[in-house]
Amino acid sequence: MYEQSISTLAQQLRNKDISSVELTNLFLKRITDLDPALNSFITVSSDIALAQAAQADALLQSGQGSSLTGIPIAHKDLFCTQGTLTTCGSKMLNNFIPPYESTVTSRIQQAGAVMLGKTNMDEFAMGSSNENSYYGAVKNPWNLETVPGGSSGGSAAAIAAGLAVAATGTDTGGSIRQPASFCGITGLKPTYGRVSRFGMIAYASSLDQAGPMAKSAEDCAHLMQAMSGFDEKDSTSSETPNDDYLSNINTPLTGLKIGLPKEYFGDGLDSNVADIIMAAVKEFEKLGATVKEVSLPNLQLSIPSYYVIAPSEASSNLSRFDGVRFGHRCDNPKDLLDMYMRSRSEGFGTEVQKRIMVGTYALSEGYYDAYYLKAQKIRRLIKQDFVNALNEVDVIMGPVAPTTAFGLGSKTSDPVAMYLEDIYTLSVNLAGIPAMSVPAGFANNMPVGLQIMGNYFAEAKLLNIAHQYQQHTDWHLQTPTMAKGA
Ligand code: GLN
Repeated sequence: MYEQSISTLAQQLRNKDISSVELTNLFLKRITDLDPALNSFITVSSDIALAQAAQADALLQSGQGSSLTGIPIAHKDLFCTQGTLTTCGSKMLNNFIPPYESTVTSRIQQAGAVMLGKTNMDEFAMGSSNENSYYGAVKNPWNLETVPGGSSGGSAAAIAAGLAVAATGTDTGGSIRQPASFCGITGLKPTYGRVSRFGMIAYASSLDQAGPMAKSAEDCAHLMQAMSGFDEKDSTSSETPNDDYLSNINTPLTGLKIGLPKEYFGDGLDSNVADIIMAAVKEFEKLGATVKEVSLPNLQLSIPSYYVIAPSEASSNLSRFDGVRFGHRCDNPKDLLDMYMRSRSEGFGTEVQKRIMVGTYALSEGYYDAYYLKAQKIRRLIKQDFVNALNEVDVIMGPVAPTTAFGLGSKTSDPVAMYLEDIYTLSVNLAGIPAMSVPAGFANNMPVGLQIMGNYFAEAKLLNIAHQYQQHTDWHLQTPTMAKGA
């Protein structure tokens, strides 16, 4: 039951083969049994889940509801959920109960989904391994000695282990795609502005974007159907009309033009990962696609440019956490300055503090032009690279990450090695285009994701391409052994 797709479960709920309360209890039991080994949830909201499930059952009873009605899903603990603890993986917010609901979670709730709880994540979404959470590292269900990827590692691990049917994630520089790749699930980072950021705790506002994580592309389409679209509460939300993400999913791929960027297959890419990606591309050729080489010449500049822009925006966004307006406040402050300093030192972890310092420095008078402005100019070049390549081809394919999931603790003392994990994902956020991670095989006994990048607002096309691939392969249906134990 825990391995079923949203479409199948929706049908079973409608046929009364199972009720939403029964399904929700099944997932809550799996969380109790398996999550102690994974640590993928920060909060399990059993009472809310069972109440929502009972409501969903009543709705289904009267023949109403959507395909998400009664489906148990989880939310990254970065989305404000009214009345439910929202920590963003930080001690700073370990007592924050939002008085309002984010647009994403509210739309998913309106579609009738059941909220199982809030998933673990790197603190303030800063990380590539989920080791930066105040609530402890998350483990990868495929090998408990390895990381699940980050920052949406809790969502990815929970889905891979069958602790939730699907989940929300956010992606500022790869945080949906890289954990999806490491845990063998499917994830979509939509075009910037496609999904509302209202009620998402901000990391880097010009890059942050919420998206669906699930076992299959079809399940991601179900979630996108509910979560995407214009929101007047987010000034950067796009007014481009929503696509129907489900109805185009069966279009054949004959004539699809795929571009392979030569820079994605150079030094640093694990050759076992490269082999899987090339095998996946061959599969697309069998489905009628043609393949040509393209170039994204400024790829190497994406890491320095991202790691100036993201910390700069973070330093400004995180200034609100001062122990007064929001967040942890230290005990017995001597004076105002002592309160600010100690509250922030105690509330933020080391990676967050490091990024606030880098960002503050890059934005300071005298350095702004040298760092921030320069990084913005590079961002423009990176965007132009994608625009040029996507004039030649329909989509771009490549790896999501240079390696498979690495050992817990193996990169924590080497920030450059950690930041290099993001080499294939960051540029997509800098350009603002949509991209997916799709399970494509196993290397080093761990899952490997194929990255599919498309033009602005091409989410429906990406979901169609991924779905066609998943009709002919079963990598997305593989289950880790630990998930079978309960
Ligand atoms: N690993 C990147 C970072 O630490 C991306 C994180 C994200 O997408 N939220 O900034």
